[in-house]
Amino acid sequence: MDTKASTSPPQKPRLIWLNISVFTLTFLIAAIGTPLWAWHHGFDWMQITALIVAFSFCGLSITAGYHRLWAHKTYQAHPALRFIFAIGGAFALQNSALHWSSDHRIHHRHVDDNDVDPYSAKRGFWFSHLGWMLREYHPNRYGDYSNCRDLQKDKIVMWQHKHYLALTLATNFGFPIAFGLLHGDLWGAILLVGFTRLVLSHHTTFFINSLAHVWGSQPYTDKNTARDNGVLALMTFGEGYHNFHHIFENDYRNGIRWWQFDPTKWLIKTASWLGLAEKLRVTPEEKIEKARATMQLQRVTQQLSDKPHASHRLQILQQEYDALVAKMADYYTLKKQLLALERDKLREKVENAELTQQYKDLKVRFQQQKRSWQVLTAKYAS
Ligand SMILES: [Zn+2]
Ligand SMILES: [Zn+2]
Repeated sequence: MDTKASTSPPQKPRLIWLNISVFTLTFLIAAIGTPLWAWHHGFDWMQITALIVAFSFCGLSITAGYHRLWAHKTYQAHPALRFIFAIGGAFALQNSALHWSSDHRIHHRHVDDNDVDPYSAKRGFWFSHLGWMLREYHPNRYGDYSNCRDLQKDKIVMWQHKHYLALTLATNFGFPIAFGLLHGDLWGAILLVGFTRLVLSHHTTFFINSLAHVWGSQPYTDKNTARDNGVLALMTFGEGYHNFHHIFENDYRNGIRWWQFDPTKWLIKTASWLGLAEKLRVTPEEKIEKARATMQLQRVTQQLSDKPHASHRLQILQQEYDALVAKMADYYTLKKQLLALERDKLREKVENAELTQQYKDLKVRFQQQKRSWQVLTAKYAS
């Protein structure tokens, strides 16, 4: 009996030649063309500035727009801001916001599941970085946006999705060419603002799927491969704090401390001051602290378990952890009450001020009425 058919290795998914060509060509042109041009013609500070501005426009449109606004709904944004992100996202050449968000929501829901997570880090660095885009790994779900019904109601998202190709071509050719013509070095601009910017923008974003799942610490959870990495945050507009992000994905911040480099967080906060963003979501501090303490407990428990006569220490450790959690709960409950009280006091103060003003207005009107009454009665009595 011939069993060949059943034992032959499963066929690899079809290659996506368009993606392979785009990634290869842009990389080669940026890696070879740009240094050669720099050597022969040089770049001036205007061109370097244009590269930084264009790179930041792409990067922040992906992190503040695609990622934190659309994929995770961590805040709400004014249509003007959403429009800017839609343009910057097309410029970054990372598919439409709808498609990107759909993939990313699957990534969070099924993180590290090799069969479902579109860029599962457990399939290796290369796969999670770039490989997942080079073959049709999930052709059956391409175009299924049922996990993004909310985004399908966003007119700007749907407009960008519909005109994605035109927008991508217009921005990727339009911006570098326009700058090149204005500045007077067309080819230099195409190389630097066109290709180099695109390749830098691509690979720094891809690092979040690859490096941020391999390199760094796990202070909040070890239930998935995501890591916190300050160095990576420098290159990715703050997305390097990926361990925090995977456990508290609804938080508009990734770097939660003031000193942690998270320009995306600063941009969203500034937008909220300007009236361009609202309803910024943050994780209650207590939850964050508890996650940290639980990870520490788990780690020390593991370390102790390998040592002899650990049971007594383990017991103390557990007792101290329980006491910590109890005190933490007490502290945050009281803090919440205090804040509520202060809010009430403030409201009372405002109400008092309003009442005082009302009283003053009424007094003036009453006195006016009284005077006209006296004038009238005197007139009629005479
Ligand atoms: Zn995310
Ligand atoms: Zn991730």
